[in-house]
Amino acid sequence: MDNVRVRFAPSPTGGLHIGGLRTALFNYLFAKKYNGKFILRIEDTDQARFVEGAEEYIKDTLTWCGISPEEGPDQGGEYGPYRQSERKEIYLQYAEKLIADGNAYYAFDTPEELEAMRERLKEGRVVNPQYDTITRTTMKNSLTLTEEEVKRRIDNGDPYVIRIKIPKKEEVRLNDMVRGWVMVHTEVLDDKVLMKSDGMPTYHLANIVDDHLMKITHVIRGEEWLPSAPLHVLLYQFLGWEDEMPQFAHLPLILKPDGNGKLSKRAADKAGFPIFPLNWNDPETGETSIGFKETGFLPEALINFLAFLGWNPGTEQEIFSLEELVNEFSEKRINKAGTKFDFDKAKWFNQQYIKASNSKDFADDLIKGLTKEHGIECTLEKAVQIIDLLKERVTYPNEFVDNSLILFNQPQSFDEKVVRKKWDAEAPKALMIFAEKLKAAENITAEHAKTLFWQTLEAEGYKPGQFMQTLRLVLTGEGSGPDLMTIIEILGGENASNRIKLSIDLLNNQS
Ligand code: GLU
Repeated sequence: MDNVRVRFAPSPTGGLHIGGLRTALFNYLFAKKYNGKFILRIEDTDQARFVEGAEEYIKDTLTWCGISPEEGPDQGGEYGPYRQSERKEIYLQYAEKLIADGNAYYAFDTPEELEAMRERLKEGRVVNPQYDTITRTTMKNSLTLTEEEVKRRIDNGDPYVIRIKIPKKEEVRLNDMVRGWVMVHTEVLDDKVLMKSDGMPTYHLANIVDDHLMKITHVIRGEEWLPSAPLHVLLYQFLGWEDEMPQFAHLPLILKPDGNGKLSKRAADKAGFPIFPLNWNDPETGETSIGFKETGFLPEALINFLAFLGWNPGTEQEIFSLEELVNEFSEKRINKAGTKFDFDKAKWFNQQYIKASNSKDFADDLIKGLTKEHGIECTLEKAVQIIDLLKERVTYPNEFVDNSLILFNQPQSFDEKVVRKKWDAEAPKALMIFAEKLKAAENITAEHAKTLFWQTLEAEGYKPGQFMQTLRLVLTGEGSGPDLMTIIEILGGENASNRIKLSIDLLNNQS
């Protein structure tokens, strides 16, 4: 494929939903796969729905995920400006061309008249009342009014919109990359507004004009736009751009975890997982929604998870870096069927990425967190050791601080079940012998600790395996946890030894 140019075209009407990020990602992967360009276009023609901060949020999200555009409002490019509000002057000429060619018309209907039309149709049991090939003949527009009247109204400054004139009884066809041939009869389409009374184009007109002028080759977007696609095809035809029409790919819907309906913010809130990539402060409600980032997701993990929402590599492999995704990605492997949002799977990806990360990446935060929240000082070396120990078992990096406390604090309470089952007369004796041996072993390694434990206890006629859980109990207070011998290594021989002895005292006093 040559000269691939795709765009992510969000409207800054609120926080970018996780589904929007999936759209951006698929565009990015497709662009990179074919050595094409990934473009960001801000579709802000709907002034009423404009939300302050939304555009920044979109850009911050792409940056955090490492999928920044090559052309866009900040990057610039040959086909700018990339914000539709800055392209206002461009659109009118195309609307006028459509009118001149008889493919669009002026409509002067007031909101009250439109409402009355809908009421009338509803009474006549029309299920889906709309301004279309039939109803337009009864409304106030340049198809029903005389030329003089139209001119008079326009000269008079009467508000008007420009609507597309949907042809009667035609079939519109498009070949979607995901869905194959889609056929729609124009009977079901309505005469959508192309230019609003405020002089701004609607999404439909601006989108088509910009995709054309920006030489977009593929339109990859969510399935919710599929119903608009026939209208877009008609616009390409009417504007004489049919030969250069981009290819469409409508990505499958992202469904609620139970598969019942589309994933919404409400559904996510209810199920207790984030829907926004980053924290989103809604300036209208004052509400802050926690993001995936702030929950503790690594961007690589989120990206990997999102790639599987509607795509699969056709193999068993699940872990893919962004680069690998680019190599493996194929539009042929995008699914048609809706895809369930499985938050546990997202967490699983995060765990895998944490496990595979360099422990140093989390050390700074651990050191700071320990000092700030617990007044504990920790060296870099120790922090790295602790993270090495714990990273197999966390879902989010922010668990490191709390989970590492066992390495700094003498246990004061002990897992009751283990105490009841295992704390017999022999346990303190055997563990005391080990503690004595440990005392002198300052720079002990995990491996050394293990040998020492087994050899010491065996020499005394004990079966060391029987005391593993009580050893954990006296070292951490818990019945299970991360590798015990590494805990001894991190504590150091003397420290571990003292801890064992103190715990034995505490346990003996308890019983
Ligand atoms: N502005 C539209 C949106 O908010 C873009 C749809 C498209 O990609 O055509 O999703």
